[in-house]
Amino acid sequence: MFDYIVVGAGYAGCICARYAADKGYKVLLIEKRNHIGGNMYDYYNEHGILVHKYGPHIATMDKKSTFDYLSNFTEFIKYEHHVKAQIDDKQVFLPINFNSIQTLFDESKSNKLKQKLINEYGENSNVPILTLLETNDDELKCFAEFLYEKIFLHYTTKMWGLSPNEIDPSVTARIPIRLSYDNRHFTHKYQYMPKYGYTKLFENMISSENIEIKLCTDVFDVINLKNNEILFNGNKFSGKLVYTGALDYLFKYCYGHLPYRSLKFEILNHNCNYIQDSTVLNWPDERPATRRTEMKRLTQQNINGITTTITEYPGEYKPDSIYYNEPYYPIITNSNTCLYNKYVAMAEQYQQLYTVGRLADYKYYNMESVIQRTLSFCSKYIN
Ligand code: FAD
Repeated sequence: MFDYIVVGAGYAGCICARYAADKGYKVLLIEKRNHIGGNMYDYYNEHGILVHKYGPHIATMDKKSTFDYLSNFTEFIKYEHHVKAQIDDKQVFLPINFNSIQTLFDESKSNKLKQKLINEYGENSNVPILTLLETNDDELKCFAEFLYEKIFLHYTTKMWGLSPNEIDPSVTARIPIRLSYDNRHFTHKYQYMPKYGYTKLFENMISSENIEIKLCTDVFDVINLKNNEILFNGNKFSGKLVYTGALDYLFKYCYGHLPYRSLKFEILNHNCNYIQDSTVLNWPDERPATRRTEMKRLTQQNINGITTTITEYPGEYKPDSIYYNEPYYPIITNSNTCLYNKYVAMAEQYQQLYTVGRLADYKYYNMESVIQRTLSFCSKYIN
């Protein structure tokens, strides 16, 4: 008999499964997809190129404890992420930095802008676009409006299906103007890719004689929630259920759907060595796609004559639609948080039910945040 049933084989579920297994508990890990790894899943395509099925995932971390934890399950290779944006006929580094300004404008204008930016905000600082828009300097204001229109407006609108002023400022503040020549997209202390891919990392994580894994199994294939009790295959379950899926689904949408943005991914092969000169090319314009990632640049594989790209098209999450049926980005507003809290209150009725992960917490977590959140959850509840 199982001590723990863990639902979902992404980071949250696999970390919990491994933590419980290492304490000697018997764990059943169930996953509705036909693979482990959640959204981090990757696979080798017919050309030997490692493809991130659910969009590019870069292992960026600031905490040594995250890096040390993952190092138990993988070797890492160093990686620096570069993103460019197509602005009219030019491609410039994102975040916008002094090199981007030099590409966009002639020498005299770019020198003037750089000097004014340094004078107003200080060298090496990061200035959110919304701060820059508040400047009293006419030339900087014109520059800010140009960037807002060319980089921010359409991208945000198509990404979120909302106008920029409807979006939480913490989202807009994520795109600063960088007052330096640093072309790297991320500035985290640790920037790596797992040497043999994420799926291998997850295989290693759940490799334990105490873990049994069942793929293609939805929570409702084995679990029933009834009168504050948990039934497993129709019988009363006396262990703990750790659920990492969406709470509205678990309670059959009884209060309505939690809104998310979803993505459609288009994966294509091209008969050339490389198709773009940065890992990611963003299209902050009116075309429906937001960005294209060239997988070989991410995985640093040496394969000639062929390259694979993955292009993302955002759309509204609809569980029954063909393309937009996966919830990727929660739309965090006050009313959605209230709705979420109603589901949390329902979950609290079940003493044996524990919830964790980006879906169950209705939060946008990057890899480091989900790992840290799950490890502290484990030390509190799995003992
Ligand atoms: P998930 O990975 O989503 O795992 C949840 C699992 O539960 C899934 O496998 C799902 O199928 C399963 N499940 C759900 N419901 C059920 C059910 N009813 N029954 C059975 N199984 C169920 N983070 C970074 O740090 N760096 C990046 O570069 C990065 N890029 C990203 C790019 C994109 C396009 C997206 C969408 C996210 C990105 N992230 C990135 C975030 C990262 O994907 C998440 O932090 C991480 O996947 C969260 O892990 P999780 O276990 O909470 O959720």
